[in-house]
Amino acid sequence: VGSDKQKKVTPFDPEKVILEEASGDAIKETLRFLTSEPHTAGTEADTRQAGWVAQVWRDQGLDTVSLTPYTVLLSYPDKDLNNTIQICDATGEVIWTSHSYQTPLGPGEDHPDVLPNFSAYSASGDVQGDIVYAYLGREEDFEYLQSQNVSVNGSIVLIRYGDIFRANKVLNAEVQGAAGVLLYLDPAYVCPKGCTANLTYPNTVYTPPEAVQMGTTYLNNGDPLTPFYPSLESAYRIPEDEAALPNIPVQPISYDDALQIFSHLGGEKAPKAWQGGLEVEYRLGPGLQNPTWTSRMSIHTRNTNATIFNVIGTITGREEPDRYIVLGNHRDAWTFGGVDPSSGTATLLEVTRLFSLLRKQDWQPRRTLVFCSWGAEEYGLIGSTEWTEQFASHLRHRAVAYLNVDMVFEGTYSFISMASPLLYGEVMKATQKVPNPNSNEVLNGRPHLFDTWLHRIPDPLHDGRPKFRGLGSGSDFASFQHVLGIPCMDMVYAAEPNASSLPLYHTLYETLHLAANLYDPGMHYHKALAQTWALIGLSLAEDMVLPLSVHLYGEYVKEAFENIKKLYGPDLEGEGIHLDYFEDAVDEFYEAANNWTSRAGEIDLNNILAVRAANDAQMMVDRAFIDPRGLPGRPEYNHVVTAPSSANIYESDSFAGLQDLLHNIQNLSDEEKQKRWRAVREHISVITHLTKAASNALTYDL
Ligand code: GLU
Ligand code: CA
Ligand code: ZN
Ligand code: ZN
Repeated sequence: VGSDKQKKVTPFDPEKVILEEASGDAIKETLRFLTSEPHTAGTEADTRQAGWVAQVWRDQGLDTVSLTPYTVLLSYPDKDLNNTIQICDATGEVIWTSHSYQTPLGPGEDHPDVLPNFSAYSASGDVQGDIVYAYLGREEDFEYLQSQNVSVNGSIVLIRYGDIFRANKVLNAEVQGAAGVLLYLDPAYVCPKGCTANLTYPNTVYTPPEAVQMGTTYLNNGDPLTPFYPSLESAYRIPEDEAALPNIPVQPISYDDALQIFSHLGGEKAPKAWQGGLEVEYRLGPGLQNPTWTSRMSIHTRNTNATIFNVIGTITGREEPDRYIVLGNHRDAWTFGGVDPSSGTATLLEVTRLFSLLRKQDWQPRRTLVFCSWGAEEYGLIGSTEWTEQFASHLRHRAVAYLNVDMVFEGTYSFISMASPLLYGEVMKATQKVPNPNSNEVLNGRPHLFDTWLHRIPDPLHDGRPKFRGLGSGSDFASFQHVLGIPCMDMVYAAEPNASSLPLYHTLYETLHLAANLYDPGMHYHKALAQTWALIGLSLAEDMVLPLSVHLYGEYVKEAFENIKKLYGPDLEGEGIHLDYFEDAVDEFYEAANNWTSRAGEIDLNNILAVRAANDAQMMVDRAFIDPRGLPGRPEYNHVVTAPSSANIYESDSFAGLQDLLHNIQNLSDEEKQKRWRAVREHISVITHLTKAASNALTYDL
């Protein structure tokens, strides 16, 4: 009755458009295109895809689209000279040679541009040496070998993938004097249910015997030849032998090949924890069971200059065009990039499609949205790092936040996020609005993405809050967060704790089939992440007062401090180093942050300068912790609260500079110890000072 007089015009609601218009099918079509050919950084296909992304953004109607080229040092295998590992008998006859390529197993994998197996930035050359098995290649694994009198010096070290970043493994081996490194995937981790054909790819997401994980062995970020500055034409380039690259050959091998090595390896039996999923007794070496046999690596991987491209698209802000909300994903892949990163690239292009739908309705965000398709992430976060170097002062003053998605999933267990505490609130809020992509979970009474996240990964210290992870490194947020102090967020669907995450990571078999048939039929997870990403971008770009969780930053710093005090307080006291000033600064910041949040509602929204001042204050919180001189012994990182862990850049440590100084301090010689304690005193005073600076940013005190 009377319904037609109620034909009201629904007000334009950008959130609703994002939630309703996001399309898994659209993402799948983009993913199909992106995965149709290998697109390794610096190749013609990569350049072609950069141009394609730019064209998509122009067609979508973004306000500006540009490409930023950089000429940088990359690394490729030789297509004519195979990288090989060989075992020879006493007469020098070759008994066994490793595989150079991964066998195509699924549709489209037999592509002429597929590269042979290699580790980026491996040194080239021939080395002969005894093989030693070093388990995961962590510091403690090398310590164990030493305790067993197994010398690594001059040997070829066989290391299993997992637990820490591969470049940390390579560095650990090189420090021990290794002559070369072999990296392999152990079935215990990558096909835990068994490795027969019906249990592995292309039938399942698990790793077949011939799969090889490619990847960089470079530990720093950005072009190896232009540290700290952008690799533009005018740039000074350091000599290649001064670059922070490995000096020894490194090669990844399959578990098929690792089995051959293990079945000939001599020496003592490896401890129980070091045994793996291959049907052979794992031994430590050094050397082979037959003492007259030898092993060698012939590696022809070479460094070479190449041009890479970032694609940068913007939707210009209406009121505050000089404030940026930056969303980014890398575009380059080791091969087809089915998951890493093209699942994320396809999702980014869906996010821009959603914003362009809004833009077509004459909507314009309050602040500028910046979309970035990074080049050469796989080699060492190169495109994003060069860009932050080129536009550092711009970004330092104007970027509100950087929101990163690399791959969309490593599993489908739960959404997880690594973030600056300033962004916790918005990530939680967005995921509370996004429908749960897991239909079983919906039936379990968890209708939203957030519900499963909270259920599966609760924060034990904070009721009702899922546990965020700290920002380490390993993807393009690193230089935004740790160098410029711009609050960052990264998100991904994770695998179950203790289950292998993305067993086919960086292999030939990361294909459309893997992403769209085996992991995410229906593209529900992709779609949910597109919605989440767009919603977070929307509120940061639109809310008059920036919705940053300042109080949670205060809480984070306080908890990080308590942790340091618990771990190292007594040692420090023993040296006469008191934490009183540090503690006062932390308490003061905690107060200031809480005050800020509880009084945020009092900001006069009619006074745009007052709003801008309040927003600037919030933007200064992460930035206040930047030490321009860098962390002790690590000039490449500047943030004293958040930094990648030195032992494994995939992880983060809070107050990493301090933790590094205190780590193993008791084992140093007296003289070294004295130096170290002095550095500890100095660094604590720096952190104390910067923590006070963060309070001042919020209280406007001088
Ligand atoms: N995401 C790439 C990897 O994990 C590159 C990481 C980095 O260079 O920091 O291999
Ligand atoms: Ca550079
Ligand atoms: Zn990636
Ligand atoms: Zn990758």
